[in-house]
Amino acid sequence: MDGRWVEVAEGVLVRRHTELDLNTGLVLGEQGCLVIDTRGDGVQGAELAAAVREVTPLPWRVVLTHAHFDHSFGASAFAPCEIWAHQRCGPALAAGAEADKKAWSEYYREQGRPEVAEAILAAEPVPPTHPVAERTELDLGGRVVELLPTEHGHTDHDLLVWLPEVSVVFTGDLVEQGAPPAFKGSWPLAWPAAVEQVLALKPSVVVPGHGEPVDRAFVREQLAELGRVAELCAEVSAGRLDRAAALRRSPYPEDFTADALQSVTNHSGHA
Ligand SMILES: [Zn+2]
Repeated sequence: MDGRWVEVAEGVLVRRHTELDLNTGLVLGEQGCLVIDTRGDGVQGAELAAAVREVTPLPWRVVLTHAHFDHSFGASAFAPCEIWAHQRCGPALAAGAEADKKAWSEYYREQGRPEVAEAILAAEPVPPTHPVAERTELDLGGRVVELLPTEHGHTDHDLLVWLPEVSVVFTGDLVEQGAPPAFKGSWPLAWPAAVEQVLALKPSVVVPGHGEPVDRAFVREQLAELGRVAELCAEVSAGRLDRAAALRRSPYPEDFTADALQSVTNHSGHA
């Protein structure tokens, strides 16, 4: 099995996957459970579903933090069931799934892992059944989960999953540990505000989309770095700084910053 459970609070488990250092989550109530993200294809989704069934026989609901393949393409292994996501996640999934399949199947082929490439190509993304437009509570029986849509950040549809009673938040890829944040297709200028929304919850445990669960101090540091990237992108957009200087001054490696600059260009005029 690819992964191990880590209990970050009573009845709140994070599954740490070797593949892409991904996190998925499992929240246990008295009447139901909530699965947070579903991995990257039908095979991986089935592995996660089996791992969930080793923990609990409770009926499940799924919430997707965002549409990227590694978080959403495994949902078919849980369907039919309620699938909650930001209201813009469904359209993003419909628009981006084919490009994700192409890019990532090529990536895995280059890595010498054709079976993963095939599984991604065969994946059947499932549209969310419950679009979230505003703060929404899910009652799992003795356990309330809050779904909090954000504006623009890692994507235009990042959804926070907040467990106020135990002070744990799942952020999807708005926060990342072990690697820099992924800027491809992102909204670098707006991203810091979304991370401020995370910090405003005053969470004790922050579960990033990839990497180890972290604390608020880690998130504050990442916020400062994201703020720096946003500043550099804004300076380049305004013609006050050249691209090479921005790449040099960034807290992140060149290719990450280059993705951020490209995203700002692509999204200029939209947000
Ligand atoms: Zn992502």
